[in-house]
Amino acid sequence: MGELHIPNLELNDGNLIPQLGLGVWKLKPGDTERIVGDALELGYRHIDTARIYENEEAVGRAIEASGIPRDELFVTTKLWNTDQEDPHAAFEASLDRLGLEKVDLYLIHWPVPSRGHAVSAWRGLVEIVGSDRCDSIGVSNFEVEHLNELLRETGVVPTVNQVELHPLHQRRELRAFCAERDIAIEAWGPLGQGKTDLLERPAIVAAASLHGKTPAQVILRWHLQNGTIVFPKTSSRDRLAENADVFDFELSPDEMAAIDGMDEQRRLGGDPREVE
Ligand code: NAD
Repeated sequence: MGELHIPNLELNDGNLIPQLGLGVWKLKPGDTERIVGDALELGYRHIDTARIYENEEAVGRAIEASGIPRDELFVTTKLWNTDQEDPHAAFEASLDRLGLEKVDLYLIHWPVPSRGHAVSAWRGLVEIVGSDRCDSIGVSNFEVEHLNELLRETGVVPTVNQVELHPLHQRRELRAFCAERDIAIEAWGPLGQGKTDLLERPAIVAAASLHGKTPAQVILRWHLQNGTIVFPKTSSRDRLAENADVFDFELSPDEMAAIDGMDEQRRLGGDPREVE
């Protein structure tokens, strides 16, 4: 693989986000520091972490060790559910753990409708983004009903909605709703979290062999051609390189349609109406 050329997308607030990055959910601090270091060395510039992943410090250490200028990096972290009543304190604590002066994107991790604090938390994020310590704000795991409530109560449109999205769970209605409002979609579980037979499905395998690519690369390409932002997780340096080597081929309309036809509305993670 040559030098990475990962394109940026423009968010609705004018800020740019690399369309492909690395997610670090479930990576222990030692693995996180190593793999983020490898990713930055390979040319990744976008890292997705969260307070609840308990690896913000490790992300920060790898960033510092990389020596890469801060303005070339895009770092996302997230407000955890039990911190929604005091987003300012949670945000400062995340910055401290990361050892950074600012984050590029701060997200409400889940809407937690049972507690009813999402709107006040969003007002907090709107204050935070007005400072020079946070460039963009968004949400995660928000269904149409949760987005409608935010928009109705505050009028402030999130830049992104990070949701479970892969060929077995394609979220068409939610994606259309977000597209109409210029809310970018970030896919979590873009490869089906290694929990399914997605990588062995005929439509994926056929496209992979035709293009001389791997099934994972075909799935990532499907996301990218849909305009989705992805940050597949891996702890292997080889897979890091593989997952970013997806900008030198294109799926045909027929190949895209075959993957579109795989939707089973199959959720692998928690239901945003229920997660506390
Ligand atoms: P993923 O779909 O990225 O799956 C990761 C798994 O896929 C790995 O453990 C590995 O087994 C496999 N894999 C990775 N590269 C591969 C390759 N090239 N070939 C074959 N298998 C490969 O799932 P994820 O980690 O859940 O999602 C990515 C990121 O999204 C997370 O790390 C995290 O940053 C974010 N996320 C956010 C939420 C949220 O609630 N906002 C929830 C889950 C994940």
